[in-house]
Amino acid sequence: MLNINEETLNQCAKCSTCTVNCPVVKVNPAFPGPKASGPDWLRLSLNGETKNEFPEGIEYCSNCKNCEIACPSGVPVAALNQLTRAAKLKKEGSGLREKLFANPRFLGKIAVNFSGIINFFTRIKILRLIGKSFFGISANIPFPPYAPISFSRWFKGYQQKVTKAAKKVVYFPGCFAEYNKPETGKALVKILNALDYEVVVPEFKCCGQPAIGNGRLEEAKQFAFHNINELKKYVKDGMPVLFSCPSCLLTFKEEYGGLLGIEEAKEVVPYLYDAGEFLGCLEFEDILESKALRGKYAYHEPCHLKAAGVGTPGLDLLNEVMVDTVMPLDAGCCGLSGSYGLKAEKEPITMAIGENLKVAIKKINPEALVTECGMCGVQLHNVSGLRVYHPLELLASNLKEND
Ligand code: SF4
Ligand code: SF4
Repeated sequence: MLNINEETLNQCAKCSTCTVNCPVVKVNPAFPGPKASGPDWLRLSLNGETKNEFPEGIEYCSNCKNCEIACPSGVPVAALNQLTRAAKLKKEGSGLREKLFANPRFLGKIAVNFSGIINFFTRIKILRLIGKSFFGISANIPFPPYAPISFSRWFKGYQQKVTKAAKKVVYFPGCFAEYNKPETGKALVKILNALDYEVVVPEFKCCGQPAIGNGRLEEAKQFAFHNINELKKYVKDGMPVLFSCPSCLLTFKEEYGGLLGIEEAKEVVPYLYDAGEFLGCLEFEDILESKALRGKYAYHEPCHLKAAGVGTPGLDLLNEVMVDTVMPLDAGCCGLSGSYGLKAEKEPITMAIGENLKVAIKKINPEALVTECGMCGVQLHNVSGLRVYHPLELLASNLKEND
């Protein structure tokens, strides 16, 4: 696990830049913020000067990573918060809600078989209110609907259109593309095939970000070990590994080696790419209709994409191939932060942060929205009612031989 010692904490220059950039602090006075609950509190705790075992309000941190992105001294503030929060949950015991939210793969595997009925019931207000009283699940923030067929099932039956000499890449779909929006994975496979890449999808587990966000670090570690071992088989031959979900990419790149302290993560990290980042290095001229895609779209940059440090390759690609420019929303964090906003006590925070999105969307008045993160997409739709696309979906709709 992350090494919390005087040296790490002394990196903090007490400038409060992290606190200024924390979206939760702005709307929730019960959260002391990254500096106070992270380096300040841990320093006092190491000296035995704290009254409580855990900082007050630590559970309000959404692990959005904006504090880490902003920190000029490179202090892993969000990771420090996650460690403290996980220790608190371990001591106090987490509920059924945290256990279920920690493993969306477990839920998704079952739910995708009954998607029609589950999607119908999760929209019924009275059932949502029952869910709120019994399990502490928000009654107002909509649940992401499940797809009728998972990405993996579609992929198994799909004939990839590639030559014998096709180059190979690995794809990690993540639970959202797997169970909620397989269109994202389908789009990537079709684009890659058109560029003569064969796609390999091994048996992965969840990336572990939802387990981290729900304070279940041991579970996250189990997932991480499985995924790293699976990837080692491919990266030894230099195969690139592509992600369509920024949170999954960030978890593999940063959390496995950092927060979870898994040494072997170093072996796979050099091969990991955001799908847009990888595609941005390829030649598109022959496979896309020349600037055929029209429309007024607005783009939301997910916090975890920012934290992964890859820029906005999806937005850049779209702006290359579309007639009209895709406008960036520039509204900051969406506030949903995975399962964070689906919890009843966090709902007001999520809604208050979401106000920024509402204002930014109104200003641009687009016909549809674009983002890489599935859960950001849920919040974007929630605040605007507009359709939300992954950049890969729009790119694939522009393929010359789209089927
Ligand atoms: S931004 Fe970094 S250096 Fe500044 S207070 Fe926060 S943790 Fe400390
Ligand atoms: S991870 Fe996000 S919510 Fe948590 S302290 Fe940092 S900025 Fe605030």
